[in-house]
Amino acid sequence: MPAPHLTDFKRIVIKVGSSLLVDSAAGRVRRSWLVALAEDIAKLHRDKRDVLVVSSGAIALGRARLKLPRGALKLEESQGAAAVGQIALARIWSEVLGQHDIETGQILLTLQDTEERRRYLNARSTIARLLDWRAVPVINENDTIATSEIRYGDNDRLGARVASMTSADLLILLSDIDGLYDAPPNLNPDAKLIPRVERITNEIEAMAGAAESELSRGGMRTKIEAGKIATAAGAHMIIASGKIDHPLRAIAKGGRCTWFMTAANPVTSRKRWIAGTLEARGTLTIDAGAVAALRAGKSLLPAGVIRVDGSFARGDAVVVRGPDAREVGRGLVAYDAEDAEKIKGRSSGAILSILGISGRAEMIHRDDLVIGPRPDK
Ligand code: GLU
Repeated sequence: MPAPHLTDFKRIVIKVGSSLLVDSAAGRVRRSWLVALAEDIAKLHRDKRDVLVVSSGAIALGRARLKLPRGALKLEESQGAAAVGQIALARIWSEVLGQHDIETGQILLTLQDTEERRRYLNARSTIARLLDWRAVPVINENDTIATSEIRYGDNDRLGARVASMTSADLLILLSDIDGLYDAPPNLNPDAKLIPRVERITNEIEAMAGAAESELSRGGMRTKIEAGKIATAAGAHMIIASGKIDHPLRAIAKGGRCTWFMTAANPVTSRKRWIAGTLEARGTLTIDAGAVAALRAGKSLLPAGVIRVDGSFARGDAVVVRGPDAREVGRGLVAYDAEDAEKIKGRSSGAILSILGISGRAEMIHRDDLVIGPRPDK
């Protein structure tokens, strides 16, 4: 099956990694590269595509401008560096896209903006309005605010959340690696690039390893995580190298990259949001009968739950695992962890006598449940 073409897509999120944008040694933005990328973006934009940019580089650029020494930064140092870098970053994006008469709009997100549904809807409508105006949203994590416990931490997953939030049909991760290899390419000269991944299986995840570069937080592992979120939300994803000039033109011409295909089963916006939840608060382990029922589209009843882990509240996202501990899906649980523990394994009719309230018959209602792909045989 040939790879799809870029013109097949209506709404494209392009994530640009820090090491592409910032020349750390010289302490500045790689301007001519960015000018070339802006030409590629302008072409898609002229072709009536909606384009969103998720741009890293705030911390890297800030530390370069502030001439901070190499090595790890303390939290408040990286937040300060981001404050300096982000303002410069936004300016340069607005300049290079402005050359093509494209307006840019800066959006800085914190984790709660995508994890809490009300804020998620709010962020989504702002972005939708920018796109209606044909502006290009330039998005980053609000690094000056985000603390280590509550952050995306890497822009790969942020890009995937943005793709899912905006119902984009393609996410492109541009970084310093040109795709997924069957073995770590820096250690193994025979490693082969995988041009197309139909489904993110355990085997694919194992190939990801844990590579990280100095500037960007996201290694291949976070890219695979991003792939899971994006493909579950109905978007294809590409990992491609941004180390060349005109990286989007190269993809359009069939250049080297890895495509992660979505099964493209249309999911509702609510389910898309659940599937992409980054912060599951707990785990429900269920028996084989319940796994089969869930795969057949049924709700999860307390009777099928064999184990409850984590401290979650009613309405929180939890991971649902089968008896073999493999993830079956995710959902919004109808009971607090304490109550879930009490009613697990019991019939729904017994809820009133156990908890003293007549709660919902389901532990997770099927409307609040997203089932993942079947595990490998
Ligand atoms: N948000 C970070 C920055 O702009 C980058 C995170 C990442 O490298 O993925 O500096």
